[in-house]
Amino acid sequence: MSQVEDVRAAADIVKVVGEYVQLRKAGANMMGLCPFHQEKTPSFAVHPGKQIFHCFGCGAGGDVFKFIMLIDNVTFSEALERLADKVGIRLTQTGPAGNDSRSQERTALYKIHEIAAKFYATQLTGTSEGRAAKAYLLDRGLKDEVIGRFLLGYAPRDGQALTRHLNSLGFSEDLLLKTGLVLRDGAGSHLFDRFRGRVIFPIANESGKVIAFGGRTLGDDQPKYLNSPETPIYTKSRVLYHLDSGGKAIRKQDYAILVEGYMDCIAVDSCGIENVVASCGTSLTDAQIRLLGRYSRRVVVNYDPDSAGMAATERSLNALLEAGFEVKVLALPGGLDPDSFIRKRGEAEYRRLLAEAPGYIDYLTDRAISVHGLKSPQGKLAVANAVLPYLARMPNSILRSEMTGRLAVRAMLDDRLLREELKRAAVERRPEIAGRPTEFKASPAERKLLRAFIEEPEVMDELLPGLVSDGILSGLVTEEIFTRLLEVRNSGETVDIHSFSENLNSEGRQLLHECLLASEDIPSREDAIRFCDALRRRKIERELSALNPAIDAAGKEQDWTRLAALNQNKVFLLKELARIRETLEIGNKTLTK
Ligand SMILES: [Zn+2]
Repeated sequence: MSQVEDVRAAADIVKVVGEYVQLRKAGANMMGLCPFHQEKTPSFAVHPGKQIFHCFGCGAGGDVFKFIMLIDNVTFSEALERLADKVGIRLTQTGPAGNDSRSQERTALYKIHEIAAKFYATQLTGTSEGRAAKAYLLDRGLKDEVIGRFLLGYAPRDGQALTRHLNSLGFSEDLLLKTGLVLRDGAGSHLFDRFRGRVIFPIANESGKVIAFGGRTLGDDQPKYLNSPETPIYTKSRVLYHLDSGGKAIRKQDYAILVEGYMDCIAVDSCGIENVVASCGTSLTDAQIRLLGRYSRRVVVNYDPDSAGMAATERSLNALLEAGFEVKVLALPGGLDPDSFIRKRGEAEYRRLLAEAPGYIDYLTDRAISVHGLKSPQGKLAVANAVLPYLARMPNSILRSEMTGRLAVRAMLDDRLLREELKRAAVERRPEIAGRPTEFKASPAERKLLRAFIEEPEVMDELLPGLVSDGILSGLVTEEIFTRLLEVRNSGETVDIHSFSENLNSEGRQLLHECLLASEDIPSREDAIRFCDALRRRKIERELSALNPAIDAAGKEQDWTRLAALNQNKVFLLKELARIRETLEIGNKTLTK
């Protein structure tokens, strides 16, 4: 076996996917909500036996490597490395697969970021300018230990300090520019540092590798925060700050505290509350939500919902709700952010409010009640109308029903009436439907037969040769797949689904995966025979419909010999058709009994 096969065999796709998607058993397969498109009902299937996945909603599909490539946005060789790492296989093979230029470049970029992080950290203690910056941090209540743990640093005002340092280590100019940490001036003549005179916050990926930096000014320079640009190793929308060290606590406590900025995150963590991450902005992206969902689906959002960024905050809260998260809202009094609040009011008070944070729906209900009041019927109705659209977004029907009941009690409204209104709100929302994948015109019989053959090789050996030699499959979308299957069997090999689908075009591959991950039971041998008959019948029907115009033509031309032959053929086909119909009917009757 090649190393790729070793890793694929060792890395169970159900386990790997399970870290990102909650899978439930559904017949022979596992189903869950697709991580590659927004959906409320699961159309994402995993085949434990064949180790493949396929989404019936967006068409994404493949093996375990493909899954990691898509979800982590990495190359094949990186996916291979990650999975090998996970299952404890040491990769020895150095070939084009394990050593392409893109992954070499990324390795170099990681290295430069590691060096830069150390460089900035040294500046914080080793220079007078840096010590002033450190004094500022200490003044804001950060302890030495915290500064060290978060690898905080300082970028000198000088403007070329990092560039010189990296140059001296022999990195190419091209590579330095790719990090985004080094820029070229307008005239193109010299290089300089992106971050100048700023406190530096290293941003790490999930596995703790530094991939970018955030820089905060000490004075009034604008912008207050400056970030690394997107690079081959950094996509802002896919990163949650502090997830590398907070992730474990999030899993353990089964909830996360979501804050806006680096300083908020550090302040909360400094209280000994480790399960905190920062989204670096209030516009939470789908990728960040998916990322968080792999650790816990319960979250306390500690943004300020009444701040200037209210619309963005509300979008983020709604997106979490729609993704099925249990969402609580921690709105600190006075509109304070967690950093300022903890400094002013103390850790104990923060912990108390955190423990009391209301659910998002309760929070919205409170807010609506404070605006509309419950004294008049109009007020009650206004409260209900303010909250119902949010309830309608909740994908989990049990939770939704529970929250609806609670709203009815709190707004003192009739529960049944409220549920009717909820239904209407849900309809009016009209969720967007994700783009449908290409439709393949393979008939159900073809699809089920393909599945039966691949799942049960003996059935394939019994039935497939006849189908091919009788030309039953000619002209069908699936013809090539069936023919190739027969070739593999004729060469005496077993069908390995991975190497087999690699040799198909993308449409064929998708079709095959769809068949294998269909929700129905795997067809039995008897079913397979019926499907063969159905295909035979369709072939005869096709031939018959081609025969009629030929018979007409022969009649007009008074070509009696040809007419006789054609009619004889027609009689034969009709008899054959009747025979097949009969067996199909018998089959159907026994099936329904
Ligand atoms: Zn999908």
